[in-house]
Amino acid sequence: MSAYVFYFGGGANSTDPRSRDKTIAGGKGANLAEMAGIGLPVPPGFTISTEVCATYNANGKSFDADLRAGVAAGVAHVESSTGRKFGDTANPLLVSVRSGARVSMPGMMDTVLNLGLNDETVQGLAQGSGNPRFAWDSYRRFIQMYSDVVLGIDHHLFEDALEIVKEDNGFYADVELEAEHWQALVGEYKAIVEKALGRPFPQDVHEQLWGAIGAVFDSWESERAKVYRRLNDIPGDWGTAVNVQAMVFGNMGDTSATGVAFTRDPATGEKAYYGEWLVNAQGEDVVAGIRTPQYLTKFARERAGAKPLSMEEAMPEAYTELAAVFELLEKHYKDMQDIEFTVERNKLWMLQTRSGKRTAKAALKMAVDMVGEGLIDEATAIKRVDPMALDQLLHPTLDPKAERDYLGKGLPASPGAASGAIVLDAETAQARAERGDSVILVRVETSPEDIHGMHAAKGILTARGGMTSHAAVVARGMGRPCVSGASSVSIDMNSRTLKIGTRDLKEGDIITLDGATGDIMGGAVPTIEPELVGDFGTLMVWADKHRRMKVRTNAETPEDCRTARSFGAEGIGLCRTEHMFFDAGRISAVRQMILAEDEDGRRAALAKLLPEQRADFQAIFEIMAGLPVTIRLLDPPLHEFLPHSDAEFAELSDAIGIGVETLKRRAGELHEFNPMLGHRGCRLGITFPEIYEMQARAIFEAAVDVALASGEAVVPEVMIPLVATKKELSILKALVDRTAAQVFAEKGKVLDYLVGTMIELPRAALMAGEIAEEAKFFSFGTNDLTQTTLGVSRDDAARFLSAYVEQGIYARDPFVSLDVEGVGQLVELAAERGRKTLPGIKLGICGEHGGDPASIAFCEKTGLDYVSASPFRVPIARLAAAQAALG
Ligand code: ADP
Ligand code: MG
Ligand code: MG
Repeated sequence: MSAYVFYFGGGANSTDPRSRDKTIAGGKGANLAEMAGIGLPVPPGFTISTEVCATYNANGKSFDADLRAGVAAGVAHVESSTGRKFGDTANPLLVSVRSGARVSMPGMMDTVLNLGLNDETVQGLAQGSGNPRFAWDSYRRFIQMYSDVVLGIDHHLFEDALEIVKEDNGFYADVELEAEHWQALVGEYKAIVEKALGRPFPQDVHEQLWGAIGAVFDSWESERAKVYRRLNDIPGDWGTAVNVQAMVFGNMGDTSATGVAFTRDPATGEKAYYGEWLVNAQGEDVVAGIRTPQYLTKFARERAGAKPLSMEEAMPEAYTELAAVFELLEKHYKDMQDIEFTVERNKLWMLQTRSGKRTAKAALKMAVDMVGEGLIDEATAIKRVDPMALDQLLHPTLDPKAERDYLGKGLPASPGAASGAIVLDAETAQARAERGDSVILVRVETSPEDIHGMHAAKGILTARGGMTSHAAVVARGMGRPCVSGASSVSIDMNSRTLKIGTRDLKEGDIITLDGATGDIMGGAVPTIEPELVGDFGTLMVWADKHRRMKVRTNAETPEDCRTARSFGAEGIGLCRTEHMFFDAGRISAVRQMILAEDEDGRRAALAKLLPEQRADFQAIFEIMAGLPVTIRLLDPPLHEFLPHSDAEFAELSDAIGIGVETLKRRAGELHEFNPMLGHRGCRLGITFPEIYEMQARAIFEAAVDVALASGEAVVPEVMIPLVATKKELSILKALVDRTAAQVFAEKGKVLDYLVGTMIELPRAALMAGEIAEEAKFFSFGTNDLTQTTLGVSRDDAARFLSAYVEQGIYARDPFVSLDVEGVGQLVELAAERGRKTLPGIKLGICGEHGGDPASIAFCEKTGLDYVSASPFRVPIARLAAAQAALG
């Protein structure tokens, strides 16, 4: 036997472990060998290994002597197993030639069935089977398939010829054609080939076989296959295997059939066989849509109210055998299987098995059920469910049965579905929401000032912006459905009307968004609420048992804190205080503080903010009930809070008694050329210490109050943003410590607390050893660390980043999935240097990456103590952290 050809079936199943290795035998070949090995009825055949594909394509598409000998021996194996001979006129062997790469891959050659038929062997097949109709039907199928996939002749030519025969005879369905019709059609097919090719259809069966083998290898290098490989990161040197297998015939009459099946329902996960089959049919007839396939089980047929008998009823014996095979395969593979089978004159044959694709819901149910059945252990169940797929399960989804009126489409920026009245600005959103209306905020794009409106809205739609636009990021964080970059939306603020596609709408009209697909629909489409108990809850309990890292959340509103806790958050990793400043009731005090001419002016405004901020923290500490809460002091550039319109300046002037001109001059002074790298973060604390002092006071007063009232421990973690040097942190830590001491003295109660910093500048990562002399914890702010390491501002990245990802410059959007190679080095280095100075220093990550499974795997590897994710990503992070810990 050649080292590159493996036999399966027919009692000569290869014992070479390579024959079951998908990398060598391809997925299809390995599973055929595996099925034959456990005694299932698999038509005998052989597999040419994937290695040959590479040699063939490297050697100018030639077959070497070793392969020729291997294939000859393989054919002999199939001949002796079946008692037929390839090319024999009396008792011909027919085979299928099937491609099969490591992973199933569109773009590869389609299967050729019935190979080995020619003008003479067709007679032998007719006589041997006693069924000339079947023989001629098989021959015409073969000519058509071979011509299409191997010889490259347009299949329409053959389909048209078949239609003409049907029309001439007044037939409607293929089953009405008799032997003589198929025979006549074969004549026409051969003429079509001769005309297209300038030579007759190959009659030599060996020429047919080598033609098909070569075509499989050629298809590996086809444009379609190359594009697919590029998009899916599949290396070009993997190659595809070729499977040559004895034909079994589902088209031999009413005791023959072919079908596809799943061992469990792939949509719901229900433990019920699911599948379709057709009597007297071959190969792809079931999926080709020529005839309507029938239900597999009586149960499914009755539930659907269908008439044509199920396989269970029509072929009880073959069905019972098939059901036994389902059970055996599940026990063997310990997973739901997707199966192809054929029944030839009541005898069952297995043609394929593989792990079946499934919906998120089904994946969850099957994983949990299989643990209950003792089929798999908890660790396997944890690894079976894609964490990102959970996202679909955490949000309301559109009722699939409901009617939809499509208006347009944008990017699926944040999952979930919501309906509501269109509102065109944040103030209207808030006002209408307060009256109890459901609203959808529709904007060209959003900015930080829209936060309260985004919060008030049930969903957000923007005409511009990508998947990492402000709207998308904030919506995901809040768990609001969002459709971004919907370029067919145009808004006219003057008339407060808008157009979506060709439809005219106005503010107040009801629309529905599906943030998982990007669809925009007219009217209210009913939704289905997510189910967070049951299987979901069970899997989460297992995940928690197996993970090492803690999972915290990024949250600052009571609502988000509650949501995150209900999703299992074990603390807050990032509470952004600036979001609290945008609140409608406070923005004027904030503006007064910013625009004040001197410290006294600022202190006066800050005094108004103190009780508000204290109340914020009280609410958070109460909800988090003793869990750690990391609060970041003010971070964004001040100009983000400034008034914009004349009306806003006038309003502010009235409120604080400073002239409009003075206010405008002061606002002008705050203008920055590049605010992302400007007067922000700890730089605010250094220049306006009274701001951080007020915030620290609010934190400690709230912490003491809640601790006294609840009797529980409250451990605030005060986080200083954008630190680059140890000195910055020393100064601000001293300020925080001083404020804490004052508050504790005033209240007569001392609390534990931590002061730490974000590591979000390359210099901070490099100097982490020194910074750790002042910091009790590091939180990796990977959003800014990515921006500053790559020199790319996230808000501007939309213009070029997709081109970068398409060309493979970055494998994935580095703002979605951490650039482990580059930015990751800084994280590792800072962790290492920080630990050296302060063994056991608390390390966490609080960027968007804290909810991304690949980034979470990196955090596990780096030994971080926790990841922090937006509330709706908490379950994803819990599962991903468990998967990372399990390796
Ligand atoms: P794909 O990878 O596209 O599913 P397959 O190689 O599995 O392609 O084959 C296509 C169809 O032909 C399937 O329905 C399969 O069951 C059928 N088929 C393949 N080989 C044989 C065979 N030896 N006898 C009968 N049917 C076959
Ligand atoms: Mg198949
Ligand atoms: Mg930052």
